Amino acid sequence: NTSGRPLVLEFHEGDRTMAELLGGKGAGLAEMTRLGLPVPPGFIVTTEACRAYLAAGGDPEGLWDQVDAALADLETRSGLVLGDPDRPLLVSVRSGAKFSMPGMMETVLNIGMNDEVVAALAERGEAHFAWDSYRRLAQMYGRTVLGVEGARFDDLLTEARADAGVATDAELDDAHLQRLAAAFRELIMAETGKELPQDARTQMREAVRAVFRSWNGERARLYRAHEGIPDDLGTAVNVVQMVFGNRGDRSGSGVCFTRDPVTGAPGAFGDYLPNAQGEDVVSGVRSPMDLSELHRRDPEIHDELTRHLQTLETHYRDLCDVEFTVERGRLWILQTRLGKRSPAAAFRIAVELADEGVIDLDEALTRVNGHQLTSLLHPSFQIGAASPLAGGLAASPGAAVGQLVFDAATAMEWAGLGRDVVLARPETSPDDFGGMLAAKAVITSRGGLTSHAAVVARGLGKTCVTGIEEMLVDPVGRVATFNGSHVLAEGTVVSVDGSTGEIFEGSREIQASVVATAIQATASDATTEPPADPTAGAVLRLLQQADKRRTMGVRANAETPEEARTARRYGAEGIGLCRTEHMLMGPRRALVERVVTDDDAPGALEEIEALALDEFTTLLTVMEGLPVVVRLLDPPLHEFLPDLVDLSVAAAVAAAQGEAEDPVAEKRLAAVRRLHEANPMLGLRGVRLLLVHPEVAEVQVRALAEAAARLLAEGRNVRPEVMLPLVAEVAELSAARERLESVIADVAARHGTTLDIPVGVMIELPRAALTAGALAAHADFFSFGTNDLTQTTWGISRDDAEASFLAAYREEGIIAADPFQTLDEVGVGALVRTAVEQGRATRRDLELGVCGEHAGDPTSIGFFAGAGIDYLSCSPPRVPVARLEAGRQAV
Ligand code: ADP
Ligand code: MG
Ligand code: MG
Repeated sequence: NTSGRPLVLEFHEGDRTMAELLGGKGAGLAEMTRLGLPVPPGFIVTTEACRAYLAAGGDPEGLWDQVDAALADLETRSGLVLGDPDRPLLVSVRSGAKFSMPGMMETVLNIGMNDEVVAALAERGEAHFAWDSYRRLAQMYGRTVLGVEGARFDDLLTEARADAGVATDAELDDAHLQRLAAAFRELIMAETGKELPQDARTQMREAVRAVFRSWNGERARLYRAHEGIPDDLGTAVNVVQMVFGNRGDRSGSGVCFTRDPVTGAPGAFGDYLPNAQGEDVVSGVRSPMDLSELHRRDPEIHDELTRHLQTLETHYRDLCDVEFTVERGRLWILQTRLGKRSPAAAFRIAVELADEGVIDLDEALTRVNGHQLTSLLHPSFQIGAASPLAGGLAASPGAAVGQLVFDAATAMEWAGLGRDVVLARPETSPDDFGGMLAAKAVITSRGGLTSHAAVVARGLGKTCVTGIEEMLVDPVGRVATFNGSHVLAEGTVVSVDGSTGEIFEGSREIQASVVATAIQATASDATTEPPADPTAGAVLRLLQQADKRRTMGVRANAETPEEARTARRYGAEGIGLCRTEHMLMGPRRALVERVVTDDDAPGALEEIEALALDEFTTLLTVMEGLPVVVRLLDPPLHEFLPDLVDLSVAAAVAAAQGEAEDPVAEKRLAAVRRLHEANPMLGLRGVRLLLVHPEVAEVQVRALAEAAARLLAEGRNVRPEVMLPLVAEVAELSAARERLESVIADVAARHGTTLDIPVGVMIELPRAALTAGALAAHADFFSFGTNDLTQTTWGISRDDAEASFLAAYREEGIIAADPFQTLDEVGVGALVRTAVEQGRATRRDLELGVCGEHAGDPTSIGFFAGAGIDYLSCSPPRVPVARLEAGRQAV
C-alpha cells in the first residue's frame, strides 16, 4: 500500500462522498449506516486495493491483515464468528465500482457455509434454509471464483425441480436441496478438479480476488466501453453480513424505488419475493409480486420500508432505488443508489420534488435534458404484438403509416390527393426533397445515420429508417421486395417506426405525443388549462423555467407557412433560416431552368417573383412581430437542371435515329454542358451565383421587399432579414450587399417609404471564420451554418462520409462522435470562437446565430452558450428541445 490510503474501511467510517474509493455501493452502504438505517454490518475493500491487485497481479501488501481486523470487528458487532458451526457468520462478497455497472461484475453470497455449518444448522431445525444457502454458495462460488459455466448449474436445478415435481426452487424440499448441493460440488470437481473450499476464510479471500478480477471480465469491459467509463478505476469489494430472505415465510427479498421510475408517480414502487434471496428477484427465476403483497403479508414491515424510502429520498433529494431483505420479520436495507428513470418520469419527478420543496425549479431543470424531451415529443405506435417485415437504422424517430411509393413525383402527386405516403428509395438525393416533404416517412435500403435521407428527415422532423438491407426497391417496376421474396406493390400500406427502425406491413395505430400536443396548445393560447397528464404538465413548467433563465434566443428553420405555424406553436421566436431554394424545388424547378437556359427568361423570372411575393407575404404574416431571416438561393444551379448524361444520351439516340435537330433540345444541352461542374458543392453556388447570375436573387429580394412594404403599409409589424450563403471574401459580401440594397431602395422608393432590412452573412467556410473581422464591417449579423462549416473544415461530405468511412472510424475508435451530429468543438468550434471574437471586435452589437443541425443538438447547445451565441435556429420540432437546453445552460 504505497499511497498510504487504507485498503479496508468499515461502513461506519465512510460516507456518500467517497464513491471514488469505496465504489457507489460501498459509499451508499456507508451513508445509510450513518443515517441509522438497518444495514447489516460490514466493511469495504477499496478500489485502491483492487487497482494494486490488478497492477501487481497479486495481493497488495497488508491487505489480509486489514481485512482480518475489519472481520474481527464485524464478528464482535454481529456476535457471530466466520466458520464457527455454533454461531456461524455468513457474509456476501460484492463488487461495486464508482459508476454503477449493473450485473456486469460478480457477487458471491453465503460465504462461510460448509459441511460443518450446514450440519449444525440442520440439527437446530433449519435444514431447508441451511441446504438452500449451501447450494447457493456452491453455485455462485463455482461460477464466479472457479469459472464453471453458470448454465450447467441451471441445468441441474431444472432437473431437480422436474424430479421433485415442483415449479420453483423455493418449493424444493430439504432432501432435494441436499442432493442438489452435492451435485453442484461434484460438477465443480469434474469441471475444475478442485473442491469447494471448506475453510471459510479461504472462501472469502478467493471471492474477494475473483471480484477484483471481474473488473476486467469481458462483460465489464464492453459495458465500460459503451458507457464511456474509464478502465483504470477498479472496483471496491463489499463484505457484508448475510441476512436471509430464504429463511421461511416471514422472510423475503425485494427491490424497490421511492417513486415509479416509469411514470414518475409518487409512492413506493417495486417487487417482492417471499422466501427468496436477492438474486432471485432480479434473475426472474420466479415472478415477483408487487409491494402490496408485502403490505398484505406484513404491514408493519411495509410501513417501516416506506419510512426508510422517505428518509433516503429526502436525504439524497432524488429518486432512489433500494434492495431490501426481510429475515424472519426483520427488515434490512442492502443497497441504495439514484434510480434510473424513463424520460417521462424524469420530468415528473423533477417538478414534483420542486413542488414538495425538496429542490428548486432551477435544480429541477438540471435534472432533465433535451434527449429526454426529444423522445417525449414523437408520436408512437400503440403497444401491440406486430412482427416487423424488416429492420434498419432508426434514423429519425416517430411513427408513421402510409402507402408505399417509390419516387418523389408520385409521393407529391398522391399527397396532393390527400393520401398518406411512405417514400421508399434505394437512397435519397436532393432531387427527392419534394417527395420527402410530402411523405409521412422515408425509408431507404442504403445509407447510415448521417446519410442524406437521415439528415434531411431529422431536419424536417420526419420519421425515417435507413439502411434496410432486407429491402430491395425497384423504382422502375414500382415494387419493393423484402427478404428476397416478399413483394409489395406501390400503394401497399406500411407502418414505419423511426424510433426502433422497424417496418411493418399494414396499418398500426398511432398515438400523438401528449407532451407535444400540450406544448402547442399552451403557446397558441395562454389561457388553456394545465394539461391533465402530469408529465406534460411538468414539461411545460420546466420549459417556462428554461425560458425565464435562458439568454439565448430560439428560432426555427422553416419555409412553408405550415412549418412556420408549428414553429410558433412550439415557442420559436422567429425564423432563423428560410431556405428559398425549397420554394423552387419540385415542379417549379423548371422555372429556374428556363432562366438559366434563356428560354423566355424574363417570363420565368416574373413568375418566380410572383410566387415569391405570395410565399413571403404568407410567411411574414404568420411570423408577424418576429424576425424572418431569408437566405438567398444557395445550391448549385445544376440541381435545378436535367442530368447532363441523360440529355446527352437522348441527343445521341435522336441523332442515330436520323431525327432532325431540335433547336430547343440543343440549346438546353448546351446550357447544361456549360454549367456542368465536376464538384458542384464546391462550385458555382451561394453568393457566387448571385454575383455571376444575379437575376434570380434579385427577384427574390424584390419580392421580399415588396411583401414587407405592402404589409408595413397595412400596419403590420413584419421583420424581414436577408442572409448571404457561402461567402468567403469580404469583397463578395460588399458587392452582393450593394446590389441587394439598391433593389431594396428601389422598392422602398416606389412605395415612398424606407425599408430597414438587415443583411447578414453565413459563416460556413473556414475563410469566412478567419476573416470575420472584415466581414463584420459589412454585415448586420452572422449566422453559423455549422453543417457546411463542418464539411469544409474537415473536407468531408455529409452525404457520403458516413457510408464511406465515418462509421468505420467510429468502430476503430479513430473518432468518438459523428461531427455532423455533435459539433466538433476542437476544430469547427475553434473557428466559431475565432469568428465570434473577431466579429464582435469589429462590431459590438453584431448579432450571432447558429442555423445548422447542431442548433438542435443538446450537447452542441452547451458549446454555443459558452461561445456567446445570441440565438439558435433549428427545425421546428426541435424548438422545445433547444429552449430547454438553452435554459439548462443558463442555470
Ligand atoms: P448487484 O450489484 O449485481 O446487484 P449485489 O452485490 O447487490 O449485486 O448482490 C446481489 C444480490 O444479493 C442482491 O439482490 C443483494 O441484495 C443480495 N445480497 C447482497 N449481499 C447480501 C447480504 N449480505 N445479505 C442478503 N442478501 C444480499
Ligand atoms: Mg445490487
Ligand atoms: Mg450551407
